[in-house]
Amino acid sequence: MLRPRFCAGADFGAGMEIKVNALMLRAADYGENDKILTLLTAERGKLSAGIKGEKKAGAKLRVAAQPFCLAEYVLAERGGRYTVVQASGGESFYDLRCDLSKYYAACSLCEAAAELSCEGEAAPEMFVACAEGLRDMCAGDECFALIKFLVRALAVAGYGFSAGVCSVCGRDLSGESRLRFDMQAGAFTCWDCGAGAGASGSTYAVLRAAEGRPCGAVTEDGKVRALRLIREYAASKTDARLNGLAEYVRLLKRE
Ligand SMILES: [Zn+2]
Repeated sequence: MLRPRFCAGADFGAGMEIKVNALMLRAADYGENDKILTLLTAERGKLSAGIKGEKKAGAKLRVAAQPFCLAEYVLAERGGRYTVVQASGGESFYDLRCDLSKYYAACSLCEAAAELSCEGEAAPEMFVACAEGLRDMCAGDECFALIKFLVRALAVAGYGFSAGVCSVCGRDLSGESRLRFDMQAGAFTCWDCGAGAGASGSTYAVLRAAEGRPCGAVTEDGKVRALRLIREYAASKTDARLNGLAEYVRLLKRE
C-alpha cells in the first residue's frame, strides 16, 4: 500500500532540537490536552513552548510542566515555535508545593522573573538568581529569600536601587526611624533632605540585609513593608504587573 505523501502529523516535533537550562514559570492549558509553558532559559531568555498533554506524553514529561521545575529541557524548534521533547536532570523544588506560604512566595518569584525577562536574549544572570532564590526558599525564610531575589532581579533587569546612605547629603541612615524613598532615583534619603514618600527604618533595615550590608533588626513587619515598597517601585519603573506579589503580601498580613 502506498503511504500518503503528506501526512499531517508526520513532522510534528521535527526540525532542529536545542537543549536549554530552563525554569518552568507558567503553564496554561492549550486545547483539550496540551499546555503552553513559559520557560526562563539561561541561553535564550524567556520563551513559550508547547507540551503534549499528560496522558499522551507519559510520566517522563509530566515533571516538565510542574511549577518551579528546573531542568535541562530539550526543545524541538520549527518555524520559530518550540515543543518540549524532554526534560531531565533537574530540581523539582517539591517542598515549595507543600507549604502555602512557600508556594505563594515561589509563584511571586516566577511571576517577577517572567515580567522582568525578555524573549530572545540570553539571561544567565536572571536564571541563576531564580535558581538560587528557589533554593533559599526551600532552605528557610521564603519571605526574605523573595525580597533578596526581587532586589537582585530588578538590578539584573536594569532597575537596581540601593539602600545606602542618603542620596542627597550622604549621611548614614542606620538608626533613623523615618526616612524617605525617592522612587525616581531608587534611593533613600533623610526625612528632611528628600521629597519622596515616607519609608520606615524597618523597611530600610530589611533592604540593607537583602543587599548583604550591615543592618538593624530584620522584622516581620519590615519584610512586609519592604515587599510593598519593591512592588510600588517595580510598578513605577516597569510595566511589570506583580499581582501574585500583592496576593502574597495579603497572605502574610493574614498570618
Ligand atoms: Zn540627607
